Amino acid sequence: MKPELKQELVKYAKLLDKKGFVGTLEGNISIYDREEGLLYITPTTKRKGYLEEETVAVLKNGVQIGGNLKRSSEYLLHEAALKARPDCNAVVHSHVPFLTAYAFCNKPVEIKCSTTFLIAIKKIPCLSYGQPGTPDIYHGIDDALKESNIALLANHGVVCVGKDMESCVALLETAEEVMKTYFIATKIGTPYNISEAEIESLNVKYHGNREKK
Ligand SMILES: [Zn+2]
Repeated sequence: MKPELKQELVKYAKLLDKKGFVGTLEGNISIYDREEGLLYITPTTKRKGYLEEETVAVLKNGVQIGGNLKRSSEYLLHEAALKARPDCNAVVHSHVPFLTAYAFCNKPVEIKCSTTFLIAIKKIPCLSYGQPGTPDIYHGIDDALKESNIALLANHGVVCVGKDMESCVALLETAEEVMKTYFIATKIGTPYNISEAEIESLNVKYHGNREKK
């Protein structure tokens, strides 16, 4: 087991708690050490701000081998996300309000009024409903995470993947912030879409290709 990965998990758990992105009963994060096949994940029903190295749960092939508290019940979701994206080693599952509101509506997100969204996110697919803590929760995750590093879980919340925890958290906070502003914008008026030609120009500039989405 690697103490530095436990420290990394504790650091980001505290940060997400401070930002109000995870609660005692909601949200969980994990880091995967692919070399050792070890998953470091937050424990269940523990305030993330109070997390310590010894309370980080460590799993090997789904079996807990470390940590003095029981692993999050959503470890199956984390394992499925990491299996779907072998290029990623970090997962954040959260119930942040603006993104989760879309999940409550079973509505994928694809907006064209935000340069940040078009450059950094492009699309947020929505998985169909599955009961929390069961394999049903990640049905369709392979396809969803092929399209995006972030996906909604219908009637539940959101899941993000990243090559490391920093990029994973950055994506979640960016997506939540954009959707918060989008919501405010819809109260002011009708958000104005960037033209298809300008979207293509953004794609060429930031991604070096001519894809439209
Ligand atoms: Zn959840």
